[in-house]
Amino acid sequence: MAPSAIIEPPAPKELSRVQNAPLAYRNDTLEKPVADDYMYAFKYNFPLPTFGKGKDILDFSNDDEREKEEIAQRFMRTLELISQSRDSAAFAELFLDCGVWRDKIAFTWEYRSFNTPQNIEQAAKDLFPRTPTSNYKLIEPAPSIQRPYPDIAWLQIVYAFDTNLIGASGVLNLIKTKDGFKIWTLHTAIESLIGHPEIPNRDGHMIGDKSWHDQRIEDDNLELVEPEVIVVGGGHCGLHIAARLKALGIDALVVERNQRIGDNWRNRYEYLSLHLPHWADHFPYFPFPDHWPTYTPAGKMGDWLEWYASAMEITTWTDSSVVEASQADTGEWEVTIQRGTGDYKYTRTFRPSQVIIATSLAGMPFVPNIPGVENFKGTVRHSTQHDSAREWVGKKVLVVGTSSSGFDTAYDFARRNVDVTFLQRSPTYLMSLDESVPRILAPLYEPKNHRKPDLDSADRLNYSMPVGPAEELNRRVAQDIWNADVELIAEMERAGFRVWRGQRDTGSHTLGYTKNGGFYFDAGACKAIINGKIKVEQGYPVAFTEDSIVLNGNREQQYDLVVLATGFSNTIDSVRNIVGEKIASRCNPIWGMDEEGELNTAWKTSGVPGLWLMVGTFQHGRYHSKKLALRIKAILEGKAPEPYLR
Ligand SMILES: Cc1cc2nc3c(=O)[nH]c(=O)nc-3n(C[C@H](O)[C@H](O)[C@H](O)COP(=O)(O)OP(=O)(O)OC[C@H]3O[C@@H](n4cnc5c(N)ncnc54)[C@H](O)[C@@H]3O)c2cc1C
Repeated sequence: MAPSAIIEPPAPKELSRVQNAPLAYRNDTLEKPVADDYMYAFKYNFPLPTFGKGKDILDFSNDDEREKEEIAQRFMRTLELISQSRDSAAFAELFLDCGVWRDKIAFTWEYRSFNTPQNIEQAAKDLFPRTPTSNYKLIEPAPSIQRPYPDIAWLQIVYAFDTNLIGASGVLNLIKTKDGFKIWTLHTAIESLIGHPEIPNRDGHMIGDKSWHDQRIEDDNLELVEPEVIVVGGGHCGLHIAARLKALGIDALVVERNQRIGDNWRNRYEYLSLHLPHWADHFPYFPFPDHWPTYTPAGKMGDWLEWYASAMEITTWTDSSVVEASQADTGEWEVTIQRGTGDYKYTRTFRPSQVIIATSLAGMPFVPNIPGVENFKGTVRHSTQHDSAREWVGKKVLVVGTSSSGFDTAYDFARRNVDVTFLQRSPTYLMSLDESVPRILAPLYEPKNHRKPDLDSADRLNYSMPVGPAEELNRRVAQDIWNADVELIAEMERAGFRVWRGQRDTGSHTLGYTKNGGFYFDAGACKAIINGKIKVEQGYPVAFTEDSIVLNGNREQQYDLVVLATGFSNTIDSVRNIVGEKIASRCNPIWGMDEEGELNTAWKTSGVPGLWLMVGTFQHGRYHSKKLALRIKAILEGKAPEPYLR
């Protein structure tokens, strides 16, 4: 008898080589459904600055731990002196070769990332002379050594400083090297505009003859004012920016096509609750109260939006739309709005200085052109037109498209024991909430002892890591989640569902920046797939006949309802609808990563002066609305320097 082979247990990171591991673990053999460079022009190509034998990078010692406050003070003073002496070469020398300086408006009056000392030096040379700085001081949280993995550690330092125009913050991540402490990343960001604080609270007593209520109606009708800013779209992004502008004393009008603020959530499918715990979703100036459900039901979110608009006294015209928009060579807008659609409708033309598009990242619903659909006797609808599974009990349903909305839709049918099949064209990135939330959301945002974190502080840290280093860290996090979810993924594959690791192997991280989808945080549907309540079919539709849908490979199948959860076109379609082709054609590409690691167009220069794009998740809305509102205030006050676009 031959001696039995000694089988070495696989190292966790080597799972992709395990013979009997799920197919998706052998990722290198899988054709990637989204190419690494899809909507991603950024090339950083530096590994994490890890320490280890023979390396120039060192671990922090116990002495460093004890003295971190002094180290932070000393380093910040050095940074202050170098910035004040405008010594761009010395500034660049503070950075590692893989170092990045990311700036949001503080120096550049734009969103910019400068990767590597060479680019950092050039930017500092151009920007330091026009940006005198002062009043550097450490702020909360106190300096701390971050050690997410055993082979990497950095000293995180958060500080405040002023320029001649603004109050700003900085977040430094220092790496210890044989030559002393070096900057891995520096993030500088606008926090306030000197001389223009947020307006103080009103007294609130009735003065003169007008009640609060009458005054609200007058304000809402814009009887005596012309708005300086028009915001198109009254979802959370539109409301967040309007609330921030109002706090800075700027009159803004929100134009919303739905009947009521909040209908954008009320009109989505009834099964929808938000996909992540609400911990990071609080609105500016208006956090959710205690006992808020962990996963906010869509209807409740709709009501919250309406309460918010009312509580913040935001001027919203619902059931309204832009019927014409043009821009003079001077940059002045002329925007005609139709208010109402019924008997009382009227139009009014405004001349705002700025227009903000907040109609979401989703352009128009994408409906694939499938021949023969007009002859099909069953029902075909895009997921945006689908409300509930309840009236389809006893019928046969096909859900096309395996992203979040597709999963939710298929699961709603399964819950009601409807015969449902899920049609998958290409692999999807999956993760369980149990494994992902503690790694990607909880550390900064989960309430501790029933107390919410300080959101400004959490946001400051959350947005401080430049995209290159963040991608390297997220690749590791995605690997950890993947390894922890091994059983789930194997079972999904056994059920016929195909899974992959996400664009650039970063799970949902890069997909969020590019496709804004293509992933699913498992909210229950995976179990229904594993136990067969949702059947899985691979392929895509090629045609309809009178009573069936034909899938590739000439597979003819019969369904009563086909739901196309096939996503949306690019946001530019929505921009085009509002401002017309002539202006939209001057707009930069929207979303996706640019060459230096900033998202295209969102919250920054759009290519059209006075036209801005306010988009993103609740977190994005809260954080970026403040930056954009301050930038617009500076522009309206005539104080904003030219953006640094070199
Ligand atoms: C299933 C699902 C789960 C999600 N879960 C989370 C989560 O847990 N956490 C999170 O942060 N995000 C989540 N999101 C993502 C994100 O928050 C939403 O997509 C959000 O709705 C985007 O907000 P918005 O304000 O940009 O756009 P929307 O909410 O779409 O609002 C845009 C508004 O503009 C209006 N509008 C559009 N065009 C016009 C026009 N031409 N004229 C006038 N008005 C117009 C629309 O009627 C709408 O009211 C989820 C999304 C989905 C689909």
